[in-house]
Amino acid sequence: MDRHQSALALVLATQPELPVHCLRPDAARKAAAFFMRNFPGEVLYAVKANPHPVIIDAVYAAGLRAFDVASMPEIELVASRCPDAKLAFMHPVKSRSAIRKAYFEYGVRIFALDSLDELEKIIKETNGARDLHLVARIAVSSDHAQHKLSGKFGAVGHEAVLLLRQARSACEELGVSFHVGSQCMRPDAYRAAMQTVSDLIRQAQVTVDIVDVGGGFPVAYPHLSPPPLKDFIAEISAAFESMPVLENADLWCEPGRAICAEAGGHIVRVELRKGDALYLNDGAYGALFDAAHDGLVFPARVLRAKKGPRRRLKPYRLYGPTCDSIDTLEGPFMLPSDIHEGDYIEFGQTGAYGAALATRFNGFGDYIEAIVEDAPLVSVYGESEAPENVVALHAAAGRG
Ligand SMILES: *Cc1c(COP(=O)(O)O)cnc(C)c1O
Repeated sequence: MDRHQSALALVLATQPELPVHCLRPDAARKAAAFFMRNFPGEVLYAVKANPHPVIIDAVYAAGLRAFDVASMPEIELVASRCPDAKLAFMHPVKSRSAIRKAYFEYGVRIFALDSLDELEKIIKETNGARDLHLVARIAVSSDHAQHKLSGKFGAVGHEAVLLLRQARSACEELGVSFHVGSQCMRPDAYRAAMQTVSDLIRQAQVTVDIVDVGGGFPVAYPHLSPPPLKDFIAEISAAFESMPVLENADLWCEPGRAICAEAGGHIVRVELRKGDALYLNDGAYGALFDAAHDGLVFPARVLRAKKGPRRRLKPYRLYGPTCDSIDTLEGPFMLPSDIHEGDYIEFGQTGAYGAALATRFNGFGDYIEAIVEDAPLVSVYGESEAPENVVALHAAAGRG
């Protein structure tokens, strides 16, 4: 893969015709190291947030050895690069053949589930294995998350109690897990979820060996300034210590976004300007999906050689390249007032759920990939370019 000193150097040297995924593996390594240093338990990287081999290798290089995987391709990917990795198959609904293959061919022992029917499938397809680690996914509130995940998975109430009891009798280790929703803005959301889980464990009267608090750890975007990650970790530690129902349980977390967001930037080109609107060569069906569907605002900067007079920043709406009107990124994105056709823009924080979500709709979706060696636009783990537009937008939104 091509390597460049910086995103700007890449643009100047290559004038890319296609959008460019910029990978900053060092940022993923730093983020993984931060979690392993600060989280008082085991850290699993949630592969779906960014399955790029460069990112997998970077978190592995940081010493991380456990991965939350959700499909056979994710299992094959991690197993091929990290032979000693611990794989946790955390999708609550798996095909029978995937269960069989994961267990017998890849040595997977950790399986998530949220129903008795899935429990039956796992028992049957592993030939009644006695060494299973079963993790019951519990439904919890995702009121404080930017991206809700509560609708689809998770056992509730009496059904959860039954699941815990039945799973207990079929496994070597029993875990409970939840997901507070992605980009969770409040540390106490984890405490509330752990309270829900405690109540269910008490009702089920089972011994639990693993408490997995899932992902959801937030990163900074121009319009979202979450509390520091250490506050989330402190809240989780305190809540874990005060779960009376546990005797000797392990604590796990599964960050995705917080590990890889800073490790990706995305370079696009302005194909046309119409007043306050910019038409770009990537958008909602590409690596900027979340800016359209979740209303996320990515930090952005224009990549220009000349250090001319600094231009005033102004708000823009962005359009992606497809013919669908959903392909609109409302933003607002703060960019120089004189931006014009042919300018290149780099978005930051696109390492999480960026390239991983890109489609080939309307003939788009071809990308260039490159490793760049400059700092991410925004960083809580290391130095950053600290673009003025992030600050400007905070001020504009009155959120400091
Ligand atoms: C998506 C997902 C994660 C990662 O979530 P983030 O919000 O990116 O941290 C972790 N665990 C499970 C089960 C997931 O589905």
